[in-house]
Amino acid sequence: MNKKKTILFLPGDGIGPEVSYSAKSILESINEIYNLDFIIEEALVGGSAYDQTGVPLPEETLNAARKSDAILLGAVGGPKWDDLDYQYRPERALLGLRSELDLFANFRPAILSEYLTASSSLKSEKVENLDLLIIRELTGGIYFGEPRGRKEDKKEAFNTMIYSHEEIERIGRVAFEAAQKRNKNLCSVDKANVLEVSVLWREVITDLSKNYPDVNLSHMLVDNAAMQLVREPKQFDVIVTGNLFGDILSDIAAMMTGSIGMLPSASINSENKGMFEPVHGSAPDIAGQGLANPLAAILSVAMMLRYSFGLEEPASKIEEAIEKVLKEGYRTNDLEGPEDMKLNTDQMSQKILENLRG
Ligand code: NAD
Repeated sequence: MNKKKTILFLPGDGIGPEVSYSAKSILESINEIYNLDFIIEEALVGGSAYDQTGVPLPEETLNAARKSDAILLGAVGGPKWDDLDYQYRPERALLGLRSELDLFANFRPAILSEYLTASSSLKSEKVENLDLLIIRELTGGIYFGEPRGRKEDKKEAFNTMIYSHEEIERIGRVAFEAAQKRNKNLCSVDKANVLEVSVLWREVITDLSKNYPDVNLSHMLVDNAAMQLVREPKQFDVIVTGNLFGDILSDIAAMMTGSIGMLPSASINSENKGMFEPVHGSAPDIAGQGLANPLAAILSVAMMLRYSFGLEEPASKIEEAIEKVLKEGYRTNDLEGPEDMKLNTDQMSQKILENLRG
């Protein structure tokens, strides 16, 4: 690499700092091993930013995010900030970063390690070798549509689901290209039997498929997709869907991988700049106890190297180090396994580091 890359590190709240400091140590180690010259900067986000500055996404953080080449985020939120007005809530910081940086494509792989089959909530034969990718549109749909609000008498509330042709087309392109790099099967999920937005979604994706004759496209209604994910998850290769449906389906897929603590995610814009973060939240129930599984955050570093910087070898090295530690039988508390093989957050990241350096 010729130009120094800046990575903005946003630890956040709850277990966010615990898992993301583990991930940062892995990133620093990879930086050293491969001589990558990454510069890592840190800033405030979420509830901890609100406590120190009065807002969950300070201007300074947003500017640093704009200037950086990639962002590594822990998690935000917690009961301490639950009663704040909507615009001050920690989760607003995520929506702000996603929309300001136009991070419209959210990649959520659900890959089950062969050593964690027993931790899955489904029977082994249903999930063995599971490897599916959910691509969720992240900056449109009902989470952002206007108007939204509450009627004056407070007895009615409303949101708007809206997608433009352009928004559907750009997420569609990302999904077809991802399918081309995998097993060339793309399933588009919508609710075209009820929603006009979904009828447009289906038309645009179908039109687009003419440019990708090597990809086999299918369509599925979201209620059926939820059922099929639990019934026969291995029928899927890549799923593309809108913001709301993707949010729900990806959490269903999460449980098949053994624990939400195993799932990384990437949110990317049209220049491959991305925000990388574990799928889980700030887990206030286990925060500060060393019980958090850092692997989702560490896998998010691998996604960053691969998706934003095209660095396949160091990305695979991290994934292999994780597989090796799982193969040796080490587990965090959220994963099934014998008590004497259980590690806390720091011990797990130390094991991964030893494997990377070894
Ligand atoms: P959560 O993901 O924080 O926790 C759900 C359950 O999974 C909890 O029992 C938790 O202990 C467990 N869990 C989560 N991550 C784990 C890990 N790495 N290792 C072991 N166990 C883990 O979801 P929640 O409880 O619904 O939300 C808690 C807070 O997080 C809320 O304030 C919510 O708004 C916020 N949240 C933030 C994000 C984010 O920052 N991207 C995402 C989801 C929720």
